[in-house]
Amino acid sequence: MADESWLRDLATYINPGIARAYSFLGVLSPEVRAEGAFVYDSEGNRYTDMGGGYGVMVHGYLHPRLVARAKAQLDKLALPSRSLPVLEPIALAKRLAEITPGALQLSFFCNSGAEANEAALKFARARTGRKVFVSTHGAFHGKTFGALSVSGRDLYKDPFRPLLPDVRLVPYGDIDALRAAVDDEVAAVILEPIQGEGGIIVPPDGYLAAARTACDEHGAMLIFDEIQSGMGRTGHFFACEHESGVAPDFLTVSKALGGGILPLGACVGTADAMGFLDSMPLIHTSTFGGGGGGGAPLATAVGCEAIDVMREEDFPGQALRKGALLRQGLEAIAQEFPQVISEVRGRGLMLGIECPREGVGGMLMSELLHRHVLALWTLNNERVLRMIPPIVISEDTIAETLGQIRAAAAEAALVADDL
Ligand code: PLP
Repeated sequence: MADESWLRDLATYINPGIARAYSFLGVLSPEVRAEGAFVYDSEGNRYTDMGGGYGVMVHGYLHPRLVARAKAQLDKLALPSRSLPVLEPIALAKRLAEITPGALQLSFFCNSGAEANEAALKFARARTGRKVFVSTHGAFHGKTFGALSVSGRDLYKDPFRPLLPDVRLVPYGDIDALRAAVDDEVAAVILEPIQGEGGIIVPPDGYLAAARTACDEHGAMLIFDEIQSGMGRTGHFFACEHESGVAPDFLTVSKALGGGILPLGACVGTADAMGFLDSMPLIHTSTFGGGGGGGAPLATAVGCEAIDVMREEDFPGQALRKGALLRQGLEAIAQEFPQVISEVRGRGLMLGIECPREGVGGMLMSELLHRHVLALWTLNNERVLRMIPPIVISEDTIAETLGQIRAAAAEAALVADDL
């Protein structure tokens, strides 16, 4: 019999609403260890994590090379004095300059995706001297004030208003609406090259290029938020590379950058976009993150190894091959059970399963959980479950998981019309 006192303590000391949700879903054993694409609960049950820890686990859980690098660095230097320069953030910044598109070059390190976007928004204002931001409905850029202000769902925004003024939200993927919103008052346009929390939405071809042109015509900065879509998941290191020749002024990255071992984020900008650092080097800093000399040696050392692994093990190529396999299987299930899955979309190993109604999505997720497959809603579109598993997932595990998804869909189909 599982000891469920942790559930009471979760409710008492952290978050009663979340404790209630676990209880409702029948999650009564906590996660205690993980490896590769699998997590294990305290009863020894094995789950396949098709949500990849919300997109963090591109390398899988506890990739041996990343663990070894973290341990080695821990014996030398974890956090710096911040009085002398440190080398690990410099090495990571060089790697980021190599793998990011266009002339992206200077990195500001931080501890989360929201912080990376906060930096990009502030830097865009510093560079342009303007106030207005353009973003999109359904966008998710984080939950700190600035990042939340440019996000696209009122549910998370309303309790905290007033947020940043002067944010123009336009429908995602609509080139005309985007063009119309950009004028000489705009500091930056911020876009996810594939919307994640909005429901795994791939924009039409030419959308990112049109955003680039609109920004260039009006002297505005372009920010690509690759926090979920980046690091090899879609078949390129960054999803914006699907439109060749389009590069932003700032690119934000996090989640997988810390290799699934440590929290780490970065805002990478061009030398021109970050030219203000010449005269104001301490304009935006944080103790554990970056600014001034760089970032934390422990996290950035692991970040270096994370990029080396991605390159040496061809993560983009793996994501394409395995993504095609997963997609094919999901599409077959969608054909068989259209009352449960109405569409499968995405790129590489960033796939979304759209259900005809919210209730069907909830049912499918719960059926998957009972079969020990972890899948996630997208935060801004509850009809869409996402499949963003670790890229290291094996083809055998994908085949096995497709069997479990089919069984879950068959079960959900029995009641789908009543939901
Ligand atoms: N941007 C995107 C596209 C995201 O998907 C997320 C998180 O899911 C964030 C920003 C925020 O990152 P964090 O939760 O680390 O603040």
